[in-house]
Amino acid sequence: MFEDELKVLSSLDHARAGNIIADINSPSLYLMQAPCSFLNDIGRCHVYERRPTVCGMYPFKVNTSGTTVGLQPCPVGFLIIRDFASWIIDTISTSDISPGERSGLIEEWQRNVESYELELLEFHSKPVLLEMQIPYEDLEMLSMFLASRNIGK
Ligand code: SF4
Repeated sequence: MFEDELKVLSSLDHARAGNIIADINSPSLYLMQAPCSFLNDIGRCHVYERRPTVCGMYPFKVNTSGTTVGLQPCPVGFLIIRDFASWIIDTISTSDISPGERSGLIEEWQRNVESYELELLEFHSKPVLLEMQIPYEDLEMLSMFLASRNIGK
């Protein structure tokens, strides 16, 4: 989670937030040690309305790798990320960037859509699933997409 999110959780419940540690791989990120201390007595999130972005991204599994967030989603996650790629293509198509840059980006995201389609087809037969890398600079776009679909609420 991000530092701002740690501050929010600390302000809500300082004791429970004590279970959050710095991520040694990514200095600007923080990790909740399992089991999450914000789970309440009936197994529900104590801070659901203010939960970190990473929690709202379920069903994705998030791994940090320095400059990207790796996603190893279930089939539903693949459908979401495929739709995200299609949404980006639509967004780029109507943007005012140069035609050359636009076609390059559309081609790149079209390849992503095709690879996600393939991964979905082979989901139950492959021993190792593709881990999709979302660069940090694209996370805001992903967040906008999820908000536009009301996913993760
Ligand atoms: S959604 Fe789950 S992991 Fe996230 S803060 Fe709530 S209880 Fe913890």
